[in-house]
Amino acid sequence: GLPGVPARPVAPRRPSRRIQVGPVAVGGGAPVSVQSMTTTRTSDIGATLQQIAELTASGCQIVRVACPTQDDADALATIAEKSRIPVVADIHFQPKYVFAAIEAGCAAVRVNPGNIKKFDDQVKEIARTARDHGTPIRIGVNAGSLDRRLLQKYGRATPEALVESALWEASLFEEHDFRDIKISVKHNDPVVMIEAYRQLAEACDYPLHLGVTEAGPAFQGTIKSAVAFGALLSRGIGDTIRVSLSAPPAEEVKVGIQILQALGLRERRLEIVSCPSCGRAQVDVYKLAEEVTAGLDGMETPLRVAVMGCVVNGPGEAREADLGVASGNGKGQIFVKGEVVRTVPESKIVQTLIEEAMKLAERTSPA
Ligand code: SF4
Repeated sequence: GLPGVPARPVAPRRPSRRIQVGPVAVGGGAPVSVQSMTTTRTSDIGATLQQIAELTASGCQIVRVACPTQDDADALATIAEKSRIPVVADIHFQPKYVFAAIEAGCAAVRVNPGNIKKFDDQVKEIARTARDHGTPIRIGVNAGSLDRRLLQKYGRATPEALVESALWEASLFEEHDFRDIKISVKHNDPVVMIEAYRQLAEACDYPLHLGVTEAGPAFQGTIKSAVAFGALLSRGIGDTIRVSLSAPPAEEVKVGIQILQALGLRERRLEIVSCPSCGRAQVDVYKLAEEVTAGLDGMETPLRVAVMGCVVNGPGEAREADLGVASGNGKGQIFVKGEVVRTVPESKIVQTLIEEAMKLAERTSPA
């Protein structure tokens, strides 16, 4: 891809071990990756691969698939082979599917020890099989399925309970000298979740998979995830992220990527700097910003485009951006790299900005 606006990370990353989820490195300073999970029946191989292809196109780097039945387990080998991004099998309840997933060539397996009875007895075998295949394990602790012993001890899924559960399960693997592990401690309350990950980050050096579980519909879930990931990543905590939304998974990926870009952990691509509008606005800023965003959707060239409603901050922001418009009196002054190149009527602003963006993209694209 083209070089974007260079990432300027919000904070130094927490030192952690590195694991390999297929070709994607997680932890040990590797770029924070974005993942999602399919919503299809995994046994429907065609539909699952189709959704994985859509996720891949939207920028997803790791995809997780559920595996509740034998038919799903049987589908894993084909899915793992045909997917262009690493596939993680998500296992609850049935340890036999852990072995099936590893043998099917999944890039990693997520286990939820709280949901696997007699998990402790099986760890030795799981560790041996995973090691033989070079398959890392995610220990995925979830508030909704916390180990009964810990629920009794703490009364509810407190940060301490989530962390104790995760570290206990990790210690079982460590007894068998298996450390190819990443950990998540998810909770639907960002305040609990943030505290749990903070404690976990202090207590171990495993890479961490961040997630607010059951975050809700798109709007609420986006905000919860952005707040929680922002709080953690700005302390350097977090190596891979999954935004959970009650919305199509490609939306989760878009949100995840935007969060990383906002925190300077990912180079920025197209960025629209638009003002909120106010009583001084001399054009319809919302409409302009929306039309410019739609018109430049999919643009790969990293551009900062300013859409400003009047001359108060307009020229300043427009000058700082690669491209911009400062509006006044039903007209727009079009800026390119800080210079006014044209003044056009309001009806031509969007079209002109898109034309100028295309010209800039041509100039910056490699020969
Ligand atoms: Fe208001 Fe102008 Fe600022 Fe937009 S740029 S918020 S219209 S003062």
